[in-house]
Amino acid sequence: MNMRDSNLNLRNFTTQIDSCLLEQGKQLLKSDAIVKLEIESRNLWFAEVQDEKLYNVKIWLDEEKFRHVDCDCHEQADTFCKHLAAVILEICEGLEIPASGDSAEIKEKASRLVRLERIL
Ligand SMILES: [Zn+2]
Repeated sequence: MNMRDSNLNLRNFTTQIDSCLLEQGKQLLKSDAIVKLEIESRNLWFAEVQDEKLYNVKIWLDEEKFRHVDCDCHEQADTFCKHLAAVILEICEGLEIPASGDSAEIKEKASRLVRLERIL
């Protein structure tokens, strides 16, 4: 997916991304696979996701739009994977952007993002 040409953002992510990836992301989130989530600035997020091994995930945003995404599990830049899906779901939850579908089950994770209130 070429992100420069796409309109992919935090609000339409769950409807635009491959449903299989989205489901895998939800499973990771449910199993507490996100071991770290840090906000470098409003538009730059780092996360660590424990799967078969520990993966570093980076997300650059332009307002709500995705500018770049990166994960250790693949070589190709700006490609979404289940780890990115999990982290993005968690960010959406923390920002209280309603994800379509069963967002209630990941609501409890939002408490980790308390620091956001100081930044936004
Ligand atoms: Zn990945």
